[in-house]
Amino acid sequence: MKTKDQARLDEHITRALRRGLPATLTLPEWHRTVADFHGRCAYCGNADVSVIEHFVPVARGGGTTAGNCLPACEPCNSTKGGKHPDALDATLGAATLAGLRRYLTSRSTGADVVPRTPPPQRRRVGKGRTGKIVVKLTADQYRQISAAAAMSGETASGFLRRLAMMDAHERASFGKAGPQ
Ligand SMILES: [Zn+2]
Repeated sequence: MKTKDQARLDEHITRALRRGLPATLTLPEWHRTVADFHGRCAYCGNADVSVIEHFVPVARGGGTTAGNCLPACEPCNSTKGGKHPDALDATLGAATLAGLRRYLTSRSTGADVVPRTPPPQRRRVGKGRTGKIVVKLTADQYRQISAAAAMSGETASGFLRRLAMMDAHERASFGKAGPQ
């Protein structure tokens, strides 16, 4: 059975995917973010956190990733709305904003470790950090997936995780709309 958290996350994953944006955030990653902010709103410190907030809004090209999602209270979420973080300087203060940027950057750069060269035979893709998704590929498959991932600026493991997280409906509509 899906938890409320998972259902809410899936909604944000789907929203980003519909716009062709990165959507790699996993539930364990999200729980870590919430824990890092001690269960409080990342913008005001309010303890009544209720939403997954996109630092760069989805409408402005921000994906549903560990490097772009923050816990927020309802008032902050509606105040921020679709604003780009650059427009929040006056509201939040430069120091708070810089701190949030530093945090998100550290989360996005720490997320994926991908081998630098294509493997000779079979190789694991993804760290298996969450213990959930481990894919074994031939060297040819790995090359193809790396090339496809590079086209959307993703790592191979991020790309695979995104695919794995699409629900059957999304996959079906991607199939219809795809190039072949
Ligand atoms: Zn708040």
